[in-house]
This record gives sequence, C-alpha cells and structure tokens, in this order.
Amino acid sequence: MLRAVEKGRTFVGRLQKGDDLLIALGEICSKEKIVLGEVRAIGALSKARISYYNQKQRSYETIEFPEATELVALVGNISLKEGAPFIHAHVTLADEEGRAFGGHLVNGCEVFACEFVIQELISAMTFERGMDEDTWLALWRRE
Ligand code: ZN
Repeated sequence: MLRAVEKGRTFVGRLQKGDDLLIALGEICSKEKIVLGEVRAIGALSKARISYYNQKQRSYETIEFPEATELVALVGNISLKEGAPFIHAHVTLADEEGRAFGGHLVNGCEVFACEFVIQELISAMTFERGMDEDTWLALWRRE
C-alpha cells in the first residue's frame, strides 16, 4: 500500500520528568485527535524497556534497562488501532560509554527529559491497523 498525504499541524513540546514516554506521547495524540502522523524525539530516560520481535516465535521479547540512558532517537508513526490513535515507535538508547541499543518502544520508559516533534498528516484514507497473517503483526491494512 502507498498513499500520498498532506502535512497537517506540527506540534513541538517536551514531556515532564517521570512521564511514561509512550503513554505521554499517546495522550497528546488522543487529546489532539491525531489519527495519522509521525513522531520524533530526543532526550534521556531514567529507566527503559524496549522489545524485540522474534520473527520465528512470532512474539515480542522484552529488554530492560534499569539504568539511565540517553534517548538518542525516537522515530515513529501515528495511526489508528481499534479506532484510537496508536503510536508505533522505535528507539535508540545509549549507555554511559556511548554504546547503543535499540528496539520497539513499549510502556515502561521513564522520562528524565524529552523533547519531541509530532507532525500530523492528512489523508482521505484511514490508516487502521489490523492483524497481518504473514507476520502476525498489527500492520496497516492493504487496500
Ligand atoms: Zn516495532
């Protein structure tokens, strides 16, 4: 699937220390009724949790970072899942020696500081996630 889309509103802001990274960004999308868009962020996390999709087992494996990390990059998109705004984001984290780790963002990342940009996108077509038989992932429906 492929669609040309238009740019909508652009939001720039920061999260509060102690926020859950994914939940806080999701709340902004819900509040502003952003149903399609992209999200980018940088900052630092007090602790982190990401996941890795095991393609053979078709299940997510959780990776915990109990120590402070740099949020080197968060890149993601916003679309609809079960009718509500849903963020799919990946993050790169770095430890005190600059070693980078990355994965799929899940709940459980505690914000130390976070600056973000959310770009709303406008499309006549609804981007709604549904179960994809080939991957067992909730992907955008083919049209
Ligand atoms: Zn992912």
